[in-house]
Order: sequence, then C-alpha cells, then structure tokens
Amino acid sequence: MINASKNTFAPEERYETIRRYIMALLEEYTLSAREIARYLKIPEKDVPNHIEHIRKTMNRTGRQLIIESARCEHCNFVFKKRDKLTTPGKCPICKGRLISPILFRIVKTDE
Ligand SMILES: [Zn+2]
Repeated sequence: MINASKNTFAPEERYETIRRYIMALLEEYTLSAREIARYLKIPEKDVPNHIEHIRKTMNRTGRQLIIESARCEHCNFVFKKRDKLTTPGKCPICKGRLISPILFRIVKTDE
C-alpha cells in the first residue's frame, strides 16, 4: 500500500494532512505548484509528488483534478505533451524563459 522504498522516515500522516490541505485549496482556487508550496510552507519540489498522489486517489471522491498546461508567454507555445507536473524552464520554440506555470484545480464531477 504505502511505498516505503524511498523516504524511509517519511511522516506519512503529515503527508496525508498536506494532501488534504492541497485538495481543499484546489477546490477553491486555481494554483501553481509555487503558490501551493507558499500556502503550505512546504518545498516547491515536493508539490508534484503530492499532486501525483492526489490525482491517483481522486477518482473515488466524485471530484476531478484539472491540470492546465504550462504556456510560453512569448510565443504562446503550450506544453501539452508534458507528463511531468513541473513547469518547464524554457520554451523549445522561441527559447523564451517566461513560462506561465502549470495550474491545478479540482472540480466536482458528481453533480
Ligand atoms: Zn516560446
């Protein structure tokens, strides 16, 4: 059930709490990983793991996680095929570095 291969000392209960907070936040707001990290005072690099976990467990809750792709602010290139949940640093088309981040939100699906 719980993958303990990494983070042997991971405080699973704390993670559960963090994930519940993230879900509550995303039901109210559309947020980037950076904003989520700031709200919860956790490292930004931890956010994709939490989001991934939330995405996997979301189906049985009558809610759906919506992921809005990152987009280049210069040429409007959209990073659609990106499976990773982290915002890319650079646009492959124009090499611009002003990328609007991936955004997350949660919608109810059972109504
Ligand atoms: Zn671009």
